[in-house]
Amino acid sequence: MKADRYCFDGSTPCDLHKLPCDAKRDGVEKAQILEKTAANLVEMAALQDALYADGREGLVFILQALDAAGKDSTIKHVMSGLNPQGVRVTSFKQPNSEELSHDFLWRIHKALPPRGSIAIFNRSYYEDVLVVQVHDLQKGYKMPPRTLKGGKEAFFQNRYAQIRHYEDYLYDNGYRVVKIFLHLSKKEQKMRFLERIDNPAKNWKFSRSDLAERAHFDEYMHLFEEVIDATATKQSPWYAIPADQKWYTRYLVSEVVIDALRRCCHEYPKLPEGALDELKDCRTWLEAED
Ligand code: ATP
Ligand code: MG
Repeated sequence: MKADRYCFDGSTPCDLHKLPCDAKRDGVEKAQILEKTAANLVEMAALQDALYADGREGLVFILQALDAAGKDSTIKHVMSGLNPQGVRVTSFKQPNSEELSHDFLWRIHKALPPRGSIAIFNRSYYEDVLVVQVHDLQKGYKMPPRTLKGGKEAFFQNRYAQIRHYEDYLYDNGYRVVKIFLHLSKKEQKMRFLERIDNPAKNWKFSRSDLAERAHFDEYMHLFEEVIDATATKQSPWYAIPADQKWYTRYLVSEVVIDALRRCCHEYPKLPEGALDELKDCRTWLEAED
């Protein structure tokens, strides 16, 4: 699949400068990609139906990106192929005081749906090693001194390990975690911010604080590479998907979703011995009704 070239499973380091933000390098044609995306959404629905019926495995898709990279619209379009009954979308914003008074995975774990379902996380515990690290938010945490005494680097290295352990824990308990970074160029982010400022229907999506975060753009890119390298594994891979053209992003994300669904158990439960005879009886009964 085309998305494979954007996959990181821990075997090679992530160098975002070498990865494209747009579709040009893949030499794809928009009309063809739109057709393939539509076909993928149909296949996705069938696979999800079987995942739900099977009920042995759960899937967690994590979307991480800087502002205006298209997390919301990717969720809206790609996930439109899924049955809402088996999907739970959670957006993780700045933690409130109750959330801050717990460990950083507390609110995450509460958002996990039962096996057989799909969780979509719009931002996630990765914020706890991204925005928190960029702004030194850990300094304001009400935590015992021993947790910070090794210094900033040790604190975040420790969090990377905790995240790896958490994802292993989920895998061993029947959940697969797939992480998607929407790789937007700085130039395209500017265009999208200008559009949000100029278009009244998009004004609500813009906030001055988005500019403050943009000032840390390069720092975030560097940190994303570090975080991807520290947490990409075969069972919980990262994908750094080009995000400058939404039609291409949606296609690649649909490929990632299908690939993950195919890896999960998705067999329709088989009826026990004798149950088929019972079905036949029921059919006879229904047919005799009138
Ligand atoms: P949009 O693209 O519509 O702006 P958004 O995901 O950026 O959507 P916002 O409400 O604008 O939503 O921003 C959520 C903010 O919450 C982000 O700035 C994010 O970094 C911050 N956030 C999320 N988790 C944490 C966390 N654990 N600690 C600190 N800040 C966090
Ligand atoms: Mg925002």
